[in-house]
Amino acid sequence: MGRVYNFSAGPAVLPEEVLKEAQADMLDYKGCGMSVMEMSHRSAMFDNIIKEAEKDFRELVGVPDNYKVLFLQGGGSLQFAQIPMNLMKNRVADYIVTGNWAKKALAEAEIYGDAKAVASSADKNFTYIPDCSDLPIRENADYVYICENNTIYGTEYKKLPNTKGKLLVADVSSNFLSRPIDVEKYGLFFGGVQKNVGPAGMVITVIREDLVTDDVLPGTPTMMKYKTQADKDSLYNTPNCWCIYICGLVFKWLKNMGGLEEMNKRNEKKAALLYDYLDQSKLFKGTVRKEDRSLMNVPFVTGDKDMDAKFVAEAKAAGLENLKGHRTVGGMRASIYNAMPYAGVQKLVEFMDKFEKENS
Ligand SMILES: *Cc1c(COP(=O)(O)O)cnc(C)c1O
Repeated sequence: MGRVYNFSAGPAVLPEEVLKEAQADMLDYKGCGMSVMEMSHRSAMFDNIIKEAEKDFRELVGVPDNYKVLFLQGGGSLQFAQIPMNLMKNRVADYIVTGNWAKKALAEAEIYGDAKAVASSADKNFTYIPDCSDLPIRENADYVYICENNTIYGTEYKKLPNTKGKLLVADVSSNFLSRPIDVEKYGLFFGGVQKNVGPAGMVITVIREDLVTDDVLPGTPTMMKYKTQADKDSLYNTPNCWCIYICGLVFKWLKNMGGLEEMNKRNEKKAALLYDYLDQSKLFKGTVRKEDRSLMNVPFVTGDKDMDAKFVAEAKAAGLENLKGHRTVGGMRASIYNAMPYAGVQKLVEFMDKFEKENS
């Protein structure tokens, strides 16, 4: 059997060209006689890999000089703690809760201070993004926190919240590099790379330079200070060398594809194909309010558990993998990240259409 179309939410599909390049370089990376996994993170060879990855990332995203780009470990989940430890100077922070990941981030921040949900879409099982134009942001809030794309529920902010002058902090894990981003609107944003960028094991945090200080909460471990890694260009300790290398290849792939504007166009086209089908289907139905639909994660249901299970099983047999939805939503979820080709979504829609005809 060849490669399947993999609709996993994460770890997820990677560009085939990148996998092939890594395969070709596996045993002997550019004539140095060893693989990237075997070389010292202090070697000139690796130094070149990490510097080039950062340079390409900055170019791709348009990161201004007064922002640091950090390659960190511990995933998105450790950022939930690292953010308050570094930024919660007044021990006050306001969170917009649009799903499980924002909820977890809020719970973690509550360990360190007065963290509060100033808006939530929990009342309708997180199927929409709340109106964030006039929120009760507190005067002494250190920052306002959002999860910009909700991997589980399939909602995405189309417009950033009005933070009333407070720092905006965002988890962009599942729409990272899917579209252009205006870096200067954020104090900090981070993305676990295993959703839309690379293999598991790394998070990229982009933080405005003036926020990188020694003024952190008492008891913050050395490794958890952004300044520790910023001062050492993400090489304070051994980083996830392999992940940095693969992400670097993905950045080059994205640049070759035409950059983030072009990826956004492609992602819109892919998502439209699936949503248009869902909107006319009598069997399947999308679960999210139309204007808040994610371009990356598309949950849908038939309303009948047995039918859902039958669909997932038959889709798998047809080479369409990992379509089972998250247990909190049920049904199905198709994650259609950057590396999912249009042909994959086309095949999914054709399969859904055929399944609908056979089961109605
Ligand atoms: C997956 C995910 C996380 C958690 O990432 P880990 O790397 O597993 O800690 C956080 N936020 C979002 C939006 C995610 O999709």
